[in-house]
Amino acid sequence: MNNQKNNMRDSAWRAELRGAMSAKERAAIPRVRMPELDPEYRVTCNEEVNQGISAGQAVLEATRCMDCRDPQCVTGCPVHIDIPGFIKNIQRGHFSEAAATLRLSSALPAVCGRVCPQEKQCESRCIYHKMKKEPVAIGYLERFAADADRLFGKATVSRPESNGIKVAVAGSGPAGLSFAGDMARRGFEVTVFEALHEIGGVLKYGIPEFRLPNDIVDAEIETLKALGVNFVKDCIIGKTIPVEQLEADGYKGIFVASGAGLPRFMGIPGENLIGIMSSNEYLTRVNLMGAGKKGFDTPVAHGKIAAIIGGGNTAMDSVRTARRMGAERAIVVYRRSEDEMPARVEEIKHARQEGVEFMTLHNPIGYLGDENGHVRAMLVQRMELGEPDESGRRSPVPVEGAIEEIPVDMVIVSVGVSPNPLIPDSVANLKVSRRGTIEVNDSTMESSVAGLYAGGDIVRGGATVILAMGDGKRAAEAMAEALL
Ligand SMILES: Cc1cc2nc3c(=O)[nH]c(=O)nc-3n(C[C@H](O)[C@H](O)[C@H](O)COP(=O)(O)OP(=O)(O)OC[C@H]3O[C@@H](n4cnc5c(N)ncnc54)[C@H](O)[C@@H]3O)c2cc1C
Repeated sequence: MNNQKNNMRDSAWRAELRGAMSAKERAAIPRVRMPELDPEYRVTCNEEVNQGISAGQAVLEATRCMDCRDPQCVTGCPVHIDIPGFIKNIQRGHFSEAAATLRLSSALPAVCGRVCPQEKQCESRCIYHKMKKEPVAIGYLERFAADADRLFGKATVSRPESNGIKVAVAGSGPAGLSFAGDMARRGFEVTVFEALHEIGGVLKYGIPEFRLPNDIVDAEIETLKALGVNFVKDCIIGKTIPVEQLEADGYKGIFVASGAGLPRFMGIPGENLIGIMSSNEYLTRVNLMGAGKKGFDTPVAHGKIAAIIGGGNTAMDSVRTARRMGAERAIVVYRRSEDEMPARVEEIKHARQEGVEFMTLHNPIGYLGDENGHVRAMLVQRMELGEPDESGRRSPVPVEGAIEEIPVDMVIVSVGVSPNPLIPDSVANLKVSRRGTIEVNDSTMESSVAGLYAGGDIVRGGATVILAMGDGKRAAEAMAEALL
């Protein structure tokens, strides 16, 4: 009954907001621009590039939203956030309610507002495209609402009453965190085991602070701690503690969220030369182990001419990090054209503003070393686009005889990742795909082993933050139902 009343109130104010300004007037408002740090300054430091929009900008941008009766943006969101609902709350100036609406579907809105590929998801379905106008800046608004709530909100988190049932999580990336929060809110006693010495998975060791500051992730972790989630660091499930031991220790359910942290290489001549490394290694040294920062002695390569192989977000993070670590030339080498690059459009734009060079339609075929075994050059093959492959993207075809030698003194290979095999290899009767991902029932996320659930990149291969969180949420729903 209360819900019904709230809904009626909700539709009343939404109708009022709709009526307050005509659709034509809304459509005439230009899309908000995100204030950014100046490129020349930002390559000298690790400060967040996107500065966030002001409350005034947020309210105006929210006013652009037409509050469509059949909002396609919601279908474009992998976790179906009530996008018009949270945006209209911003328009009313009710920022905490906006954040609360976001939290109904997303455990980490401040993170998603910063790193989700909105242009391919929610914003790609916005009605404004039909009017040949820029979509509502849903990502910027999501970030605004989550930040405003964190900085000024009065919401307090209290620990729910325990139901006495222990559950374990292997891995503390977005899948594990989202699962842990949902289970803790239901009263389960949740322990998250993390192999590394920091909580957060890729959010900490992969995505650099200039895109996602650590304190945003830490604030989410603090909320989970307040809910009663227990974190154990430096503990590798399947090695430090075997999965069977967790069962013996009284954990009634296990959620495996161990990600896809195993780097792939191309297997081309010279790839073992000094100065050639994976993105994972490079970013982990810089982001997690303080390489390059005062007071840390973690060694890291400081190339003057750095080549980054690949066109995804990981490649963009690596190349932009290399610029910040002093590379005078930082070159992205990608075998297709820019249109096929999987990286977010904004990352490509920011990289270019920061002086990154793009060598598209080129593929490395080997590396040459100096007398000390250090890389000194790469051989690149020019490519052209052929027929689309199974991914729907036009496949790169070598242009015969078009090979160039480019001097480089550092190479970061960013051509994809595979699931970490440790847990899949150590659990008897666990069904694993040929790619090494754990096979699960899509709706419950339960694996072939009863009581063992899995989600995120360990199930999907390299995917996205929001999909990993969605998996955690579904697994929590199913496990809670099975255990209660
Ligand atoms: C550099 C980079 C940039 C990215 N940028 C974006 C972006 O902009 N937007 C986006 O949506 N996605 C992005 N992604 C992808 C996204 O981060 C991942 O899809 C997401 O983090 C997967 O979440 P997860 O929880 O499954 O795994 P992860 O985040 O990988 O976390 C897994 C955790 O499990 C731990 N672990 C592994 N094995 C064990 C074990 N045996 N026991 C205990 N702990 C274990 C790992 O140490 C790790 O902390 C990026 C990825 C990278 C690498």
